[in-house]
Amino acid sequence: MLDEIGNPLNEKVIIVSATQMMKTIIMMIAEAWKIDQHPGPILHVMDTILNATRYSRERLDPMLRDNRFLSIKVQDVKPKKADTVLMKKFVGGILKLVGANSPSGLIFTTIKDLLLDEVDSYPISAFDFGDPVELAIKRTTEFEDRQIILASSPGDEVTSRIMPEWDLTDQRYYNVPCPHCDEGQKLEWGRVDDDFGMKWKNEDPKTAFYLCIQCHKEIYNREKYWMLANGLWKKTFPERLYKPGFHINRLYSPSATTSWDKLVEDFLIARKYSKQGDHERLKVFINTTLAGVWSPKFNIPKEEKLIQRVEQYYTPEKKILPEKICYLTAFIDVQDTWLHCIILGWCIGEESFLIERKLIFGNPAQKMIWNELDIYLMTAFEHALKLNLYISAIGIDTGGHHADEVYAFVKERQVRQLRNGVVQRFYATKGWNTPWKPITDLKGRLNNKGGIPLYMVGTDTAKEVIFNRLAIENEEKEGYGYLHFNHFADAEFFEGLISETLIRDKITKISKWVPIPNRRNEDLDCYVGNLFLVRVTKPNLVKITEDLKQKSEKMKEGTLFDQPKEPSAKQPGSNWVNKWRE
Ligand SMILES: [Zn+2]
Repeated sequence: MLDEIGNPLNEKVIIVSATQMMKTIIMMIAEAWKIDQHPGPILHVMDTILNATRYSRERLDPMLRDNRFLSIKVQDVKPKKADTVLMKKFVGGILKLVGANSPSGLIFTTIKDLLLDEVDSYPISAFDFGDPVELAIKRTTEFEDRQIILASSPGDEVTSRIMPEWDLTDQRYYNVPCPHCDEGQKLEWGRVDDDFGMKWKNEDPKTAFYLCIQCHKEIYNREKYWMLANGLWKKTFPERLYKPGFHINRLYSPSATTSWDKLVEDFLIARKYSKQGDHERLKVFINTTLAGVWSPKFNIPKEEKLIQRVEQYYTPEKKILPEKICYLTAFIDVQDTWLHCIILGWCIGEESFLIERKLIFGNPAQKMIWNELDIYLMTAFEHALKLNLYISAIGIDTGGHHADEVYAFVKERQVRQLRNGVVQRFYATKGWNTPWKPITDLKGRLNNKGGIPLYMVGTDTAKEVIFNRLAIENEEKEGYGYLHFNHFADAEFFEGLISETLIRDKITKISKWVPIPNRRNEDLDCYVGNLFLVRVTKPNLVKITEDLKQKSEKMKEGTLFDQPKEPSAKQPGSNWVNKWRE
C-alpha cells in the first residue's frame, strides 16, 4: 500500500477501510514520506476540525518530534499556538490540517498532495461553498505530480463518496491462505446461507469461526495471525493501471478487542435491534466493521392496512392496561388552540401500546389549559395485574409559538413526586434542525430562555425507527418493536401518524422527511417524542416487568390473608416502578 502512495504515477489512491484499522497510520506514513522525500504544499482534510486537531496533537506531533529525519525539517513542532496545531511548515512545503465542516479551511491557495480522510462523514455541502471534496481537489490542479488519497469507511449507498471512487480502481483485497488447504482468499462476512465467511453456532458468539471458501473447513481466530503474516494484496482488475484501491474490513484486525467472537457478538446485538425496526446499529456495523455500504430499505405501510390492526384493549368500557405494559410515557405537542397528547405503554423490547390520545382545547398562553394538562398527567391507570401505573416520563415540545409557557410548566416540575410517592420526570424538547441526528444525546442544553435543560430530539432517526416498526408484520402480533393500536387509532390518527414520507433529494442525495400535503403531523410528532422519552430515561423494562409481577403476587397474598376487604386495584403506591432504572 505504501509503495503505491510512493509511486508518482498514481494520481489517486483509494482506501476503503473499517474504522480502527490502519488508515490513520497510513496517512501518517504518507505525510512523513512526503515531507521527507517529496515536499510541497499538503492539505489533510478530516471530517471535523476537532478530529483534525486531535490527529495533529496525538499522532502527528509525536511523530514529527521523535523522528530525527522529520524533526530537522519541520519548524516549530511544539503546539504553542492554535495555528501551529493545524499548520506545519517544513523545508520545501507546508502541511495544513482542516475539517470538512469548516469551509474557510478548504480555500487554500494551491496544494500538491491532498489527503481526504473519512470522506463519507463529510457534510454534503460546505455551507455555501459547495462540495468540500470538489473544493479541495480544485486546489490541486496546478501540480502535474499531484496525489490525492481518499480514505473512508463507507456510509450510505447513495450518498457515499468513497464507493464511486473505489469502483474505478483495481480493487485490491488482502488475500490470506487457508490453514487447511492453503487456498488464498479475502475474508468476508458472508450471508446466512453462504458456504463461506463468518459462522457461529446456536447464536453463541463464543463459537465463532471462519468457513474456508474452498475446503469449507473451520478456521479459528487464533489462526488469523499466521494467515495475516502470509497474506498478500490481490487486484480484482489488474488491467486498471495506476488506479490503486484497497479494501480492508475488521475481520482482518489483529487486535484482541476485535477478535471474531467480539465481531459476532456486535453483529448479533445489531441484528436484534434491526429486527425491532431500529437499524442504526446494523448500519454502523456494516459501515465501520465490514467497510460496506448501507442500503436503506424502506416501505411505508398504508393506513388502510394499519387500521385493520386495531386491537381491543384499554377500551372505553374496560380501561385496563394490558398485562405486558410496565412503563408509561406521555408526549405533548403544543398547538395554538390545543394541547395534543399521546400516552404510550411500553413493554420489553420497546414493544409499545397506544393508550390514550387526548386533545385538551384552550389557549396555551393562559394558565387554565396547563392546569388541565397537569391533572391529566397525574391519572392512575389501572393495570391488568390489579395495581395502578402512573406516567413516568413526560415530554413537551417547545417548537411552537408557546415555548415560554412550556419552559415555565417544565421548570416548575422537572422531577416531581406525586403525593403517593410516584416520581414523574418532565422534559422540554426541541427537534434537531440537523438531519439524521441520534434520537437522543441524553444531555439537555442549558442555553435557553427557560434556564432548564432543553433536550434535542433526532426526529429524522426517530421517524425512521417508527416507520420501520409500523412495517413489522408478524403472525404473533407482538414482539420486539411491535406497535399496538386501540380504539383511539381511527382514520384521522393514522393519517396523522403517516403524515410524512421519505424522499431522496436528487441533487444533494440526502434522504429527508417531507410532509404529505393536507395532513396534520401532531400524532407523528407525539410518537417521536414518546420514543425519545423511553430512550432518554432508559428504564430497565425487563426488571420492571418482573418486579411488577412480584409486587402483584405479594399484593394478592396480602389481599388473601391480611386485608380481605381492601380491593387491591385501588392501592395507591406504585412509585417502585420509578425506582428501578438501569
Ligand atoms: Zn481451506
